[in-house]
Amino acid sequence: MSIPKKPRKCRVCKSEFQPVRCLQQTCSFDCEVKLGMIHAERSKAKREKAERIAEIASTKILREKLKTKRDWIKEAQIAFNAYIRSRDRGLPCICCGKTLGHSSEIGGAFDAGHYRSVGSAPHLRFDERNCHAQNKVCNRYGSGRAVDYRIGLIARIGLEAVESLDADQTPREYTIDELRAIKSHYVAKLKELKNGN
Ligand SMILES: [Zn+2]
Ligand SMILES: [Zn+2]
Repeated sequence: MSIPKKPRKCRVCKSEFQPVRCLQQTCSFDCEVKLGMIHAERSKAKREKAERIAEIASTKILREKLKTKRDWIKEAQIAFNAYIRSRDRGLPCICCGKTLGHSSEIGGAFDAGHYRSVGSAPHLRFDERNCHAQNKVCNRYGSGRAVDYRIGLIARIGLEAVESLDADQTPREYTIDELRAIKSHYVAKLKELKNGN
């Protein structure tokens, strides 16, 4: 290899120098050392970034693994309720017939209210016939709304369906996999609704 004749610019201090080696990038031993340090810093930063990303991913996986059945029930319920609120948008409140509040987002102006409550009939928590959009005041502060809810429900789904809900005492036990499936089922149904299908 021939020694280059033209002067070059040092990669570190930017001064011009006359190279004596073919691939020489720096003007001096000092700049050569500095360049080595710069490269080392760069690959260290790259490595650390990759490590951070891997750590975040494994934390996510761990968090998923640590979720209890209760957590999954909660997440499936949130997805189910969000679907119900979206399904019933535009309908009146199931119990009082008043217009629903405007927002259907989580914590919005109306709830997905269960006819037979999740507390007393947890086996009907994911039954679409048992859950309808209801104004917050009616759902949360209207414990005397049960009779009105039943009347509204009969009008909406028919007496037969209401009586079958009334009589339903079959317990449901869900596995975590089933709860995960319920959650994604309702996430998908909500998406479909929002896309206007
Ligand atoms: Zn230099
Ligand atoms: Zn109401």
